[in-house]
Formats: sequence, structure tokens, C-alpha cells
Amino acid sequence: MSAADRQPALRPAVFLDRDGTLIDNDGDLGDPKQIQILPGVAQALQLLLKHDLLLFVVTNQGGVARGKYSEDAVVQTHARLEQMLCEQVGAPKVISEYYYCPFHPQATVENYRREHEWRKPAPGMLFAAALAHAIDLEKSWMVGDQERDVVAGAAAQCRTILLSSDREQAAASVGDFVAKDLLHAARRITAPIIDAAAIGSVALHARRSDILSDAVFKETIKSMAHALAQRTGIQLLQLDFHASSVTATVAGGEVIALGFATELRRDTDRWWRSHRAPESPWGSF
Ligand SMILES: [Mg+2]
Repeated sequence: MSAADRQPALRPAVFLDRDGTLIDNDGDLGDPKQIQILPGVAQALQLLLKHDLLLFVVTNQGGVARGKYSEDAVVQTHARLEQMLCEQVGAPKVISEYYYCPFHPQATVENYRREHEWRKPAPGMLFAAALAHAIDLEKSWMVGDQERDVVAGAAAQCRTILLSSDREQAAASVGDFVAKDLLHAARRITAPIIDAAAIGSVALHARRSDILSDAVFKETIKSMAHALAQRTGIQLLQLDFHASSVTATVAGGEVIALGFATELRRDTDRWWRSHRAPESPWGSF
């Protein structure tokens, strides 16, 4: 047996932000009694575990740096969270490990006052988990409700999902996907791998070449495309802007792509007519 044969196979993982992703909290929680797991979280984690994905929590805990609670409190909170998740999910273990970063460059507690490679948007916690648990980062995902979460995930070569219902936040995000909550994100992560034949592309052609140089309109098209994907469950794989056209690439083949483009055309047409000019921004298909 060669050394390579003895190496454990790298496994895919899902890195989960904690506050606003798993629990209902704005970021300062040092009291295990205050934990409130968000709706749909247990079902989402069940789905991810069923697909044999390792789960990790990666959370900034600036509250420690600000002296609001101690690292002990963070550890106790995570122990209680794990207990609650096990009960709700019905599994003996849910999160493989909880990573947290107590440091902050503007900390009031001197010991914690520094920038740290674990503090998101830096990807340090993901790298630490990958080393300790033999994780294939390129096959892994990062999910969180803040832009720093998807930035950290992207820096670690993971695919990323931003949890947001805010159109502007979604349109401006570097996240690969946007989902309204963890359950929708888990469905996206565990969706069957699409083969090339099942991918469809359709272009919308602008009536005039200057129409797509309108930055606000471009952002509107992006956010409407993401909203449409969320509403319909169609997997939007790519949205490419060219000088005078936009190409939407979706899972499901040409017919789905045509339906998606038709809806997107209708939504964006309506916006254009009420904000820019009475005639449609689009030419024929
Ligand atoms: Mg968060």
C-alpha cells in the first residue's frame, strides 16, 4: 500500500456562520439560556448530514473583545447549542467543531486587541478546520448572513451562499448564491449535480447599446434575476453582462432557460417603464 493510499480521503464540509444563520441573535450572545434556534435550521442540518457533509460553526465573537462575556461563556453557549441541535435534529452529533474568533482590533479588553487571521472576512477558521479534519475546501460551502461570511468562504476557495432577503444586499454580494434562509441554502447545496446537457442559456438583447450601461438598471436586473430564482426554485448558474445583452444560464435545460428569461424580461421591462422610459428596454429574443 502506498502512502497516498493510506491518506484519508478529503471530505466536503459546510461552514456555518452562527448568529443570524443558526440562531436568532445580532451577534452578542454569551448566555446559553438565550439561544433561539431559527426556524428551518434543524431540517436544514438534517438534510446536510444526510448527504454526508461535515458541519462546522465559524463565528466572530467580538463580544469577548468588548468585555461583554468571556471565552468560557462562548464555549458554554456552544455546548448548549450543540445539545439543542442534537435534540432537534435527532443525531448524536451535529456540528463537528465550533470555531470562534474572540479578537478584535478595537477591543476594549487588551488581551484581545489585535487583528487576527481567524476574524472573518479572513478565512483562518476555515483553513484551521480543513487542516484538522481533512476537508476538501473546493468541494465545501460557506453559508452566512453577512457579506464577510461569503468573502471568507470565497477566500478559502469554497462555494458560498449569502442568506438574505434584501435585494440590494443580494445584488452587491460576491456570494455564489443567495438564499432566504438556511433551509433554502441546504437545498441548494444538496441539489443533484447538474450535467452539462441540463444547462440552458438565453440572452436578452437590449434595444439600444447604451441601455446596459445604466448601472442602476444593471443592478436591478441582477437583483430581479436572483429574486426570480428564489421565487421559482430555478437554479441560476450565471448571469453574464455583455455590451448590449444579458445571458442567463440556468439548470434544467433550454426550455427552463427560456421561461426564466421571459419572466426576467417581464420584471425588468416593468421597472424600466416606470423608472426610465415608456418603451421596452429589450429588443426581440
Ligand atoms: Mg451572522
